Amino acid sequence: MQNIKDLTLQDIGQRLTSLGEKPYKALQIFVWAFNKGISSFDDMTDLPKGLRERLKENFYISQPKIIATEKSKDGTKKLLLELEDKNCIECVLIPEEDRLTLCISSQVGCPLDCGFCMTGRGGFVRNLKLSEIIDQVFAAKTLLPADQKITNLVIMGMGEPLLNYKEVVKFLNIATHQKGLGFAPKRVTVSTAGIAPMIERLGKEIKVNLAVSLNATTDDVRNRLMPINKKYPLKILLDACKKYSAVRNRHITFEYILMQGMNDSIEDAKRLVKLLKGIRCKINLIPFNPLPNTKFKRPSDNALSIFQKMLLDSNYVAIIRASKGEDISAACGQLKGKLKR
Ligand code: SF4
Repeated sequence: MQNIKDLTLQDIGQRLTSLGEKPYKALQIFVWAFNKGISSFDDMTDLPKGLRERLKENFYISQPKIIATEKSKDGTKKLLLELEDKNCIECVLIPEEDRLTLCISSQVGCPLDCGFCMTGRGGFVRNLKLSEIIDQVFAAKTLLPADQKITNLVIMGMGEPLLNYKEVVKFLNIATHQKGLGFAPKRVTVSTAGIAPMIERLGKEIKVNLAVSLNATTDDVRNRLMPINKKYPLKILLDACKKYSAVRNRHITFEYILMQGMNDSIEDAKRLVKLLKGIRCKINLIPFNPLPNTKFKRPSDNALSIFQKMLLDSNYVAIIRASKGEDISAACGQLKGKLKR
């Protein structure tokens, strides 16, 4: 049996045809599964009973299984979800003044092993399926009161989304489909550690926001922090970013986690100004969240302000982003697929 939530609108149409059913019914099924988030084919009340029975014989509808939640003192909520094969993933609801963002995972674990990240330390298990990505949204919705809704999605949780490209793009299409999850593309962001060829492809294929986790201004430092830089060094990565922003004529957000003595000097700030020249972008400066057994340290407030000022003086938009949910390990780079029980 196949999970209906692993099928795109087009896939549902094809499956209906192969079952001898009318393919135009696909949109109704799509709306029930992805917009209304129903749990039973019996709830698809505008479909003929016979078709509902055929669907039941061939498909099932997954329901997310939340096995634990934790709430931070700043209101951030972390959810631990158990998948059908018993692997676990996390997603995080982040309330801010004017928005409620859901940070979604795209893989179980992550193969990229960034030096500042707990997810990377745990290694890679597997890619998530479309249903497992989408069920994070439905899981988070169950925690919200009726008058509150998720306003933004970021694929910035466990895993590197551009290494699970096919399923992530299917998800993005459903997330931004008016009859799917119905998010405006400008409210959906994919965050990558720098899979350069896939950045260019994403730019051509879909219109959502892109965030790039940069974190260094020389290949030497970036190789140490993010081993993926050995495959796609800064020049290749930033060329891909230039092509992406030219196609979409949109801003890229560069995430820059500052670590004391590693990447927080005035020289770094000067190099960053040069590196990003010609790319329409803004820069999020994130002071490092100390992790257990880490050699990296949080920068001083003074170093952070000097770094920001250098960027502002060079006419970049540079915002210091306080990490949310640090006390429950829900902040950037802290997701491990386990909550404190
Ligand atoms: S920072 Fe992102 S890409 Fe790097 S190891 Fe962690 S989850 Fe993977």
